[in-house]
Amino acid sequence: MSQVKIPTFKLNNGKELPALGYGTWLGLDEKFQLYYDDIPKMEEALSYAIDIGYRHVDTAHLYKVEPQVGQVVNKKIQDGVVKREDLFITTKVWQNFHREADVEVSVRGSLRRSNLEYFDLVLMHWPMSVSVDEVDEKIDYLETWRGFEKVLEKGLVKSIGVSNFNLEQMKRLLDNCKVTPVCNQVEINLNLGQKELVDFCQSNNVVVVAYSPFGTMVPSRAPPGSPEPKLNNPTMVAIGKKHGKTVTQIALRYLYQRGIVSIPKTITKSRVLENASIFDFELDANDVASLAAFDNGYRTVRPVFWQDYQNYPFDKVDMKMEIPLGLRNSQLISD
Ligand code: NDP
Repeated sequence: MSQVKIPTFKLNNGKELPALGYGTWLGLDEKFQLYYDDIPKMEEALSYAIDIGYRHVDTAHLYKVEPQVGQVVNKKIQDGVVKREDLFITTKVWQNFHREADVEVSVRGSLRRSNLEYFDLVLMHWPMSVSVDEVDEKIDYLETWRGFEKVLEKGLVKSIGVSNFNLEQMKRLLDNCKVTPVCNQVEINLNLGQKELVDFCQSNNVVVVAYSPFGTMVPSRAPPGSPEPKLNNPTMVAIGKKHGKTVTQIALRYLYQRGIVSIPKTITKSRVLENASIFDFELDANDVASLAAFDNGYRTVRPVFWQDYQNYPFDKVDMKMEIPLGLRNSQLISD
């Protein structure tokens, strides 16, 4: 079986985070429900990922797959493929657990569902706080962060971080925390370079993790009219050809060379291997300049249905949409 060797980035608490991880958000179907049918494929792909050398898994309470992630991971440990300490498992606290004391409730729930003794990293999924009935609770994320500091102190998790924090929110958090977040997980891809945010995080020793690393390049994330590059983009194809790599590998390698961790999602085994086979070549200055030119600020993930909630981190657009079923708090599994 082919093997991949994935390098790590050092976190501000001394721990090592693999530069590429396995993403487990399965996405929403046409009825805005999670693609439940893909769960068995995800389990197989994740199992294969660990077999070939992935050590970093990104999940969340919202994704409704913590039990399956835990089962796969525990099986790999039982079978002697990996030791727990060689894995880096991340989960996230959802928006209805933002009261200081509720963070521990959420983390304990995630541990129970996944049958793990600790998480390597737990993230505040979004800076907004929303009740089970989707009411804006307006809880300050600094209060929530104190709950994160507590679960760290109690040893339920090894590291704490945030997700979807914008520049101002990051600055305010860093100015008002006891424990600095180890990372900020945000959307970054060729369309959305987020240079200012990345520079701020990196200069403050906060690792940046890129979600949706392919942006609109992949059909599942490309609504009509979304910008280039797509998989057949001539510039991308040419850079790929030059290095004997696929267009998606070029996109992931570019993130790595920017010092950014990526967590691509795939339930396709061949792509599991493909996505991690990016550590044996180097993009040159010309490639980097061509790739940087795609940055146009386009957001693939734009949850307009939350844009009137306090602390929504992105610019607002003139659009109304109901919260999709698969993202409703009432649908979260709690057992
Ligand atoms: P990705 O950019 O990872 O895109 C996933 C899509 O790309 C799937 O349709 C997958 O298809 C396809 N794909 C994967 N690899 C390849 C390849 N080599 N060639 C062609 N197509 C490919 O988007 P996501 O939004 O899923 O982001 C990745 C992860 O980031 C999530 O799974 C989740 O863990 C995290 N995330 C976090 C968020 C947050 O708010 N913190 C928000 C969104 C995501 P297939 O599976 O069929 O192979």
